[in-house]
Amino acid sequence: MVSEPYGGKLAVQSTGSLDGLKTIEISKNYAFDAEKISLGAYSPISGFMNSAEIESVLDRSELPSGLPWTIPIFLEAPEGISEGEEVALSYNGLKFASMSIDEKFKFDLKKLASGIYGTLDIAHPGVASILNINPTLISGKVRLFRRITGDTSPAEARQIFDSFKWEKIAAFQTRNPPHRAHEYIMRCALELMDGVFINPVTGEVKPDDFPPEATSEAYRHFVQLFLPPNKVFLSNLTIAMRYAGPKAAVLLAIIRKNYGCTHFIVGRDMAGVGKFYGRYAAQEMLKKLDIGIELLTFNEAFHCKKCNGIATEKTCRHEEDRINISMTKIREMLRDGRKPPSEMIRPEISEILEKYIKPAN
Ligand SMILES: [Zn+2]
Repeated sequence: MVSEPYGGKLAVQSTGSLDGLKTIEISKNYAFDAEKISLGAYSPISGFMNSAEIESVLDRSELPSGLPWTIPIFLEAPEGISEGEEVALSYNGLKFASMSIDEKFKFDLKKLASGIYGTLDIAHPGVASILNINPTLISGKVRLFRRITGDTSPAEARQIFDSFKWEKIAAFQTRNPPHRAHEYIMRCALELMDGVFINPVTGEVKPDDFPPEATSEAYRHFVQLFLPPNKVFLSNLTIAMRYAGPKAAVLLAIIRKNYGCTHFIVGRDMAGVGKFYGRYAAQEMLKKLDIGIELLTFNEAFHCKKCNGIATEKTCRHEEDRINISMTKIREMLRDGRKPPSEMIRPEISEILEKYIKPAN
């Protein structure tokens, strides 16, 4: 049995026509959110949040209904929009959804940034970007006319999982191409589960992460070359990556519950950036809030020279012989024209990534 949608029901909404509606152009990240809202990926949410909903999420980490929720889903107001209007949302000149504006309101951006990220330090990429938006926001229900990404929808994923007859399905969240520590965790999950849903976030990521196209291409090859068919389903999740550590991890888990996953894989510092969040803060918050998806928690995986393989603190006794595996280090090596060791990343994957790296000089 796939998982129940969050809040009980998928909030899928579509519209048959956008004729006669005033058109407003919205930017990439908001357009991706609008698509995901109307496909039910953010169920039970059915529109961009109003002021009371945002306050509730920031102050109490829950929706007004009491259901845990940690990241506000908001939309900046474009020029010339009033409450009560029905508009067509457009992205890149293509009308794709309708929205009924039920509230237009000013919101304190400092409160928004600190409530999401737990800091106002502008070294945090999320803080810097929120403090630069228009403080007037709009809320209202969103209905989809046509899709703007190739992402699988929650309803489609549920059908696919059913057709595989999977009962235990773990979601693997990532925003980076697969290195050997990721692979170890995916294989551990495959040992325990009927299937693993690999669902890389391929919307906007920070400039020092690999571009989404690199992540997407690397995963396609990795799955095809190394993982068993009928045990893995790979699809992109095109939304902006929120680097809000534990709070972002909760949103990412809710989305995967809506996709039908029964389990959620959580490693070290999920959705973190720099040193802003504790190494296992995401695991702790997910345990505390309990959104109805089982957790598969993992400690940091490394290569141990003595064990001659990937291990974690739970499986290896050698403290002196570990090679840490980090995407930052892999990127640096590729940028310097060096081949990262195969203990860190498979050569088949680093060859793909080389194409996306600009040399340092
Ligand atoms: Zn060892």
